[in-house]
Amino acid sequence: TLLDTRTVPGELKWAASPSEGGWEEVSIMDEKNIPIRTYQVCNVLEPNQNNWLRTDWIPRSGAQRVYVEVKFTLRDCNSLPGVTGTCKETFNLYYHESNEDRESYIKESSFIKVDTVAADESFTQVDVGDRIMKLNTEVRDVKVTTRKGFYLAFQDVGACIALVSVRVFYKTCPLTIRNLATFPDTITGADTSSLVEVRGSCVNQSEEREEPKMYCGADGEWLVPIGGCFCSPGYEEKGGACKACSAGFYKAKSSDAGCFKCPPHSHSVRDGATVCDCHSGFFRADSDPPSMACTQPPSAPQQLISVVNETSVVLEWAPPRRLGGRSDTSYSLDMVARSQLCLPCGSDVLFSPGQTGLKTSRVVVSELRAHTHYTFIVHARNGVSQASGAGAAQSVSVSVTTNQAAPSPVSSILAIDVTRHSLSLSWQQPDRPNGVILEYEVKFYEKDQKERSYRIMRTFSRSVDVTGLNPLTVYVFHVRARTAAGYGEFSAPFEFSTNSGIHAVKFSSCRACIKVYVQKRSKYSKTKQDSEEEKHLNPGVKIYVDPFTYEDPDQAIHEFAKEIDVSSIHIEKVIGMGEFGEVCSGRLRVQGKREIYVAIKSLKAGYSDKQRRDFLSEASIMGQFDHPNIIRLEGVVTRCKPLMIITEYMENGSLDAFLRKHDGQFTVIQLVGMLRGIASGMKYLSDMSYVHRDLAARNILVNSNLVCKVSDFGLSRVLEDDPEAAYTTRVRRKIPIRWTAPEAITYRKFTTASDVWSYGIVMWEVVSYGERPYWDMNNQDVIKAIEEGYRLPAPMDCPVVLHQLMLDCWERERAERPTFSQILNMLDKLIRNPGTLRRTGGDRYIITLQPWSVCEWLQSIGLERYRDTLAAAGYTSLDSLLALTHQEMDRLGIITPSHQNILIASVQQEVLSQMQHMQHSMVPV
Ligand code: AMP
Repeated sequence: TLLDTRTVPGELKWAASPSEGGWEEVSIMDEKNIPIRTYQVCNVLEPNQNNWLRTDWIPRSGAQRVYVEVKFTLRDCNSLPGVTGTCKETFNLYYHESNEDRESYIKESSFIKVDTVAADESFTQVDVGDRIMKLNTEVRDVKVTTRKGFYLAFQDVGACIALVSVRVFYKTCPLTIRNLATFPDTITGADTSSLVEVRGSCVNQSEEREEPKMYCGADGEWLVPIGGCFCSPGYEEKGGACKACSAGFYKAKSSDAGCFKCPPHSHSVRDGATVCDCHSGFFRADSDPPSMACTQPPSAPQQLISVVNETSVVLEWAPPRRLGGRSDTSYSLDMVARSQLCLPCGSDVLFSPGQTGLKTSRVVVSELRAHTHYTFIVHARNGVSQASGAGAAQSVSVSVTTNQAAPSPVSSILAIDVTRHSLSLSWQQPDRPNGVILEYEVKFYEKDQKERSYRIMRTFSRSVDVTGLNPLTVYVFHVRARTAAGYGEFSAPFEFSTNSGIHAVKFSSCRACIKVYVQKRSKYSKTKQDSEEEKHLNPGVKIYVDPFTYEDPDQAIHEFAKEIDVSSIHIEKVIGMGEFGEVCSGRLRVQGKREIYVAIKSLKAGYSDKQRRDFLSEASIMGQFDHPNIIRLEGVVTRCKPLMIITEYMENGSLDAFLRKHDGQFTVIQLVGMLRGIASGMKYLSDMSYVHRDLAARNILVNSNLVCKVSDFGLSRVLEDDPEAAYTTRVRRKIPIRWTAPEAITYRKFTTASDVWSYGIVMWEVVSYGERPYWDMNNQDVIKAIEEGYRLPAPMDCPVVLHQLMLDCWERERAERPTFSQILNMLDKLIRNPGTLRRTGGDRYIITLQPWSVCEWLQSIGLERYRDTLAAAGYTSLDSLLALTHQEMDRLGIITPSHQNILIASVQQEVLSQMQHMQHSMVPV
């Protein structure tokens, strides 16, 4: 309300014009006997009335349309006695907008007429004293928008009128809340049809859902509500406001929904929870909705089973016993190989269907290394594993050791040297050797021939020279590797063509390291082995006579041996044990000769006839020989007991023990000198058509001048006569399989050529300083290995030529072996040109062990911690580790006794196992 005359205290004092005789302010009592201010005029008898009454300035206070309610009484002209046409029954309402609140002068023309107001039916009767008056109420509205306020004016033109009250007001749309938005008290618009757009604001703890809007109509009514708000998370609507969710309830989103009860395994302790907290031990994944129950990580997978198939492992397990109330269990695998140092979990290991995020409970792990210890850990996870920080409790592990597996194929072959007739090929080790590569097999054929006819070569190295090829021809090559597990697959075919050029390209010098199976023509085959028959036919050559051809053994002995008087023998000490009794050293003084040192073998008492005969047969044989490299018989004592055989004394005893005692102390020339002596003695024997059958370092004696002499002539006869004796002996000593040529073992074909074979073994014994041929392999394995084409490798520091000579002695075809005379020539040549002895294989006899890395080996025995220590001390290859001693390990700081033992034992074991698998430590020819 801008003005209400009833509430104005005191007089109104509005401006009237004319100031006298026009409108008059009159105080009266209203119907409730409250005094009110009124304005009256009643000049009905006079014509041309123009009486103005103007209100004070009314500020509009932001209103744009104001309402003027006038209550008035009006006399009915008819009720007035004597009035003429001058009487009126209306008055006019004017307004004038103004910023000025003190205008005193009423300029009638500046007022704008609102309306002519007449009395109407809707009056009420008012008792005024003794009269009853009709009280009219009229309301007019007017737009007031241009100035700060306005004036109203009432014009009377001759009526009898009383303005009982004037009230000026404007309309508003009252403050209201709709859809959780507050709309303020809003003044209506200027026009009767206008709608005022009002933006609401969200109530406390609520958020706008859509811009809240409403329209305020001209009559003060709110119209067309749009949009609104939602209670914020943690709050719900109650009576048009947002109230916090109570404990045990939550509301996660702003929505028109109410609060929800906490899901299972969760709680809320404070009002206004937006989410319920999980009970301890229960969790919620980031992606879990707040409405979801709290859950737990799964327990460990169960019943993990592994099945190893070569280098693959199939792992299977059962789902965890507790899934924790979730259905998103998945599995992942970790793999730990025995050594992290040497074998990082290779990226080449394949997990099928995968390593992580597995929904199935079966995985095939392939491409693992052979002979490697792996631990697989299967983890079970679900959506809350991370949140719970759970670790080991949810996993299960299994350890496996992969088996042996054939090597993977060689991936590429290169031709490094090409000539008209040859190709030098080289290739890389297979990606996964899966063990120690023992050799490579090269298969090749002319491309045109397809595989109808092919050749095979075998080599230790990763290269081979293929010779004897046709010029300008395309050849197809395949290479495959072999380990203890067998052959791998052949490589894909690689084609190379020989040259047409006439200039042969120089060969690489690696022939020495390649032994191939292709048939080669022996350099000795042209000079055919001298046969015994030839010898017999050759007059003038002294032939050995078998004493067993004598009916009376004493006759033979007296033909070939001198009887010595026992008084001329002075026995000094026992120096050894022979097959028939003690061997002593002593002195012999024969009449007219100077005293010499002798060895005296005696036949112990209680001998049989056969033993006597055997004992003396050695002297009968020895007595026929006269050579500086054959032990010389001085004579026999047969006429008194004990029977004695007197030979020259060999100060250094038997060669094998002698060499072992002086390991590494001789020059190559000295060793070759010893070999030459033995060869010379053997040539003499072979010239005599004597087949020794037991040539071995233990049967060579060495004197103080390092002269080697062949001795022990006992075995020959017995073996020949007794077909069973090939595997028995007269003295229950096993046949010397390791020294014996294959044809002699299989069908007792003992010849000089089989002695040559044995000589080759003696060479090996000499150069390796008394090492046992074929080490600890058993006889059956030795026989098998030889049969399969393997041969002893070059001993440490062995000149290549000597090893080649050994290999020649070990030719399978005995006719291909050199004769002793050729061997002698060869050794003489070597001694004359010592430079030829300088080239060695450069390695010890384990050279042919494939270079299994020390790292891998250490890893395989679980001692990779010593890798750096050993490497720093120069132990960089497996064979170098053979030299490892306890003292050396003490020095290196490897002090744990069990580790020392493992290291020593396992390197020996490794070498042995390779040997026993007929491996590379012998050279195939
Ligand atoms: P034997 O019965 O010929 O095998 O001899 C047995 C051992 O006696 C041999 O291993 C030698 O150590 C030793 N011995 C045999 N003959 C001689 C010898 N002439 N000079 C020195 N020691 C010998």
